[in-house]
Amino acid sequence: MFTSIIRSIGENPDREGLLDTPARATKALEYLTSGYRTSLEEVVNGALFESDNSEMVIVKNIELYSLCEHHLLPFIGKCHVAYIPSGKVIGLSKIARIVDLFARRLQIQENLTKQIADCIMEVTGAAGVGVVVEAKHMCMMMRGVEKQNGLMTTSMMLGQFRKSGATRAEFLSLIN
Ligand code: ZN
Repeated sequence: MFTSIIRSIGENPDREGLLDTPARATKALEYLTSGYRTSLEEVVNGALFESDNSEMVIVKNIELYSLCEHHLLPFIGKCHVAYIPSGKVIGLSKIARIVDLFARRLQIQENLTKQIADCIMEVTGAAGVGVVVEAKHMCMMMRGVEKQNGLMTTSMMLGQFRKSGATRAEFLSLIN
């Protein structure tokens, strides 16, 4: 596949520097889309613990690397996740792995944000989940309008975060 892409842009796939590129690029693309071949069960791997804590849990600044489904170019940024436990808490590293599970697919930022929120809500049975994603899109920075500082912010608020302005405000103030 990458051999024909290389040829179609006018390059010579047989020159020395490009000989192994199709194999390497295939491997890279497989990794960057490994979310399609990873199950939620193996990500969570039983790391759900009973708890009577019902205070907001926040994981800030989770690094996020994804691929825009329109241009197959990266968008990179940060994800902030909060939830209010309702009987169960989840291992913190699992939240980051859930972010990766959905980021390592072809995405648009809006859907990615929603999928992360829905998944954490479903897995934890939380009273509410809030997710904010801030990302820079290479398809905007390297091509198109070539705006270097356009940061896109998306959010998804579920349950208590949707119902209560105070809960939402607490989350947003803690991530800013
Ligand atoms: Zn794009």
